[in-house]
Amino acid sequence: MLRGGLALKITVHRGTEQIGGCVTEIATDQTRIILDFGTELPDATGQTPPNTLLIDGVNFGKPACDAVLFSHYHADHTGLLDTILPGIPIIMGTVSKDILLALYRLVRKDSVSKVEEAIAVPALKPFTIGDLQITRIPVDHSAYDAAMFLVNNGEQKVLFTGDFRFHGFRGKASDTIVQKYVGGVDVLITEGTLLSRLNVPVLSEFDIQELIKAVVKKYKYVFALCSSTNVDRLGIFHNNTPPKRYFVCDRYQKEIFDIIADASPSDYYKFRKALTYGSNLDLRLKQKGFVMLVRKGSMLKEFMRQYENDNQAVLIYSMWNGYLDGRDQELSRLVKPFQESGRFEMLHTSGHAPLDDILKLISWTNPKTIIPVHTEAGEVLAKGNMRENVVLLDDGESFLV
Ligand SMILES: [Zn+2]
Ligand SMILES: [Zn+2]
Repeated sequence: MLRGGLALKITVHRGTEQIGGCVTEIATDQTRIILDFGTELPDATGQTPPNTLLIDGVNFGKPACDAVLFSHYHADHTGLLDTILPGIPIIMGTVSKDILLALYRLVRKDSVSKVEEAIAVPALKPFTIGDLQITRIPVDHSAYDAAMFLVNNGEQKVLFTGDFRFHGFRGKASDTIVQKYVGGVDVLITEGTLLSRLNVPVLSEFDIQELIKAVVKKYKYVFALCSSTNVDRLGIFHNNTPPKRYFVCDRYQKEIFDIIADASPSDYYKFRKALTYGSNLDLRLKQKGFVMLVRKGSMLKEFMRQYENDNQAVLIYSMWNGYLDGRDQELSRLVKPFQESGRFEMLHTSGHAPLDDILKLISWTNPKTIIPVHTEAGEVLAKGNMRENVVLLDDGESFLV
């Protein structure tokens, strides 16, 4: 089914009724691009559902697509990368490519060459695919190097947000960046993750920093369960480790730190204290204390077990609390002893924009059409002042601009 006018065809293949696994297509008579190509979010047991999304010319049939572009490295945006048909250009940010390479070398070795193929493009430098001009607009998110895409066919401008927020460390600059590099648009395709969680208060990353600082002060041995690529949060743990205490991680995490330190001009992201764990450090760690990053898949979880009953040890859980519902047994085993002892803190905030911030972006870009994606509640936008501009598509449905 088609709705609307002329020239640009926008199709949301997936994401009109779910968070994660979003795939959006923009096409003209001459050009066809795909924005994000992700797997669905893991189920309650931590497993990613098998892929059922086949798009003719993209991951099925003969190649008929000019490029697949990735807004950031999270798997719900990149997870289907290895199914893209040969010969179709893959495009992403420079740092996103480096991080994805490190991640794939660890967990998806068979697909490393597909990531190596990707063309890395810097932010804010327009590039051309067919008759479309595209610019990566850097944006605050729980992934470093995340970007929106501004797509321009010479007549109409479409802003595709990917995942974004304004309440992180880099959020304050968004206003200026959007006004300067985006301005008014015809169509805004916006994520709406938090539209289904309207009553949950959203703390800023600065608030989280204060809370983490207090816990680190109170305990000598601090374990942190945190995504290995949530760079701002990792920065909080690193930069608030007291001078005489160790900041320890595994080799893979150190590789991520080195990528970020090379890429970022900011001192906040240099991770100079980061030490790769080795058992030769055990005695010194015990004596001086530490902040240690652990993950489900990390060998450091074995080290953590030795401190389960130590009154000076705490576990800070710094990820989405939905993973803790008990069905992910490996995770449950890891956190349970700390939960039971009461030496357990959940300190986290979302990587996504609450309704007020989506409305802010709408006011800055003044779109004629708003298409919610990456959401379970797009209709919330359709109830606001902008209701006449909101188009609620079904998966697979197209809108003509
Ligand atoms: Zn996402
Ligand atoms: Zn994301």
